Amino acid sequence: MAVRHSLAVQVSSLSENFFGLMRVPDAASPTRTAEKPALSKASQRFALLTLVFVPYIKGKLDDLYRRRYQQPSIIQPAETELDETAVSQLFKKAYPWLNAGYEGTHFVYQMLYLLEVSNYYSPWYYALKHRCQRLSMDDIASQMQRSAALRKKIIAANERRVLPLRLLGRVSLTSWYLVVDYSHLVLLGAFCAFKVLEWWYSVEHRMPTQSLPIPPPPEPPRCADGGVSIPSDVSLCPICRQKRSNPAASSSGFVFCYPCIFNYVQQHTRCPVTHVPSSVDQIRRLYETSS
Ligand SMILES: [Zn+2]
Repeated sequence: MAVRHSLAVQVSSLSENFFGLMRVPDAASPTRTAEKPALSKASQRFALLTLVFVPYIKGKLDDLYRRRYQQPSIIQPAETELDETAVSQLFKKAYPWLNAGYEGTHFVYQMLYLLEVSNYYSPWYYALKHRCQRLSMDDIASQMQRSAALRKKIIAANERRVLPLRLLGRVSLTSWYLVVDYSHLVLLGAFCAFKVLEWWYSVEHRMPTQSLPIPPPPEPPRCADGGVSIPSDVSLCPICRQKRSNPAASSSGFVFCYPCIFNYVQQHTRCPVTHVPSSVDQIRRLYETSS
């Protein structure tokens, strides 16, 4: 909708308008007026198709091709079963060529435009017979006139409606015009915020791996007065004083037999060594590897 509005009123796409450019049809009369849009309706529809629909379809096809045929080799065998149909075989073979043709044509048009051989920046501009040019002060004034005339017409049409619809129309039109008038500022702000966030997080994530050493492990928690003492042989359970079986850690990090710590915590709701309040949910079973 925003692109459609931009094409109708500003005679450019949103990005073209952002860079102070506008589209000029080859057949345009030199005296454009506010009453007569610079782009015909058909031309606007075709431009909308090339600005929104074509990139969307191309993005989806790129994504599909990447997911199905450019995955790492580990998952390739499972995917090959899906490749049997004639359509997907054709897609697999033809799409890279189609894509190369599409991108290549755009590249050639851009080079020709850069070398001032062609007036058209892309094949779509050629098909539409649109040229791009910088906005002059007259163009800006003309855009403002066109926008004001269009708004006046819409507001007048709204005023002829019955009361509740008229009020609703007023509110929605006012909000819509606010969005349209400030959309470029909002978009610019959102883009800057996104870039700042991207930079911030990339720095945050890079820092620890690059320079900071791993901090030393924390000191063991202090044993409480009257708490269970730790045996000198670390393979023994502090509760039953026998070789630990099914090792499990309390919330303080000390390791016991699982049945011993479970029964103790269920009964006393605390760690037997530090007396820190604890529940059975906080007990962690430890799994030792053979290596
Ligand atoms: Zn035990």
